[in-house]
Amino acid sequence: MGNYSFKCKDIGMQCGFEVKGGSSKDEVLQIAAVHAKAAHGMQTIPSDVAAKVNAAIKS
Ligand SMILES: [Zn+2]
Repeated sequence: MGNYSFKCKDIGMQCGFEVKGGSSKDEVLQIAAVHAKAAHGMQTIPSDVAAKVNAAIKS
């Protein structure tokens, strides 16, 4: 288990979702993508959003 984390609100979403304990950035990105699809109706992640998520992931 790693320490990669991400909070939806860090990219400006009014959302309490967060990922903790991700083992890699890719894993956190994947979890965030599933969440974005389910909670935010994003069938695919736009590249600008992906870049923001990538920048907001902390380790
Ligand atoms: Zn969210």
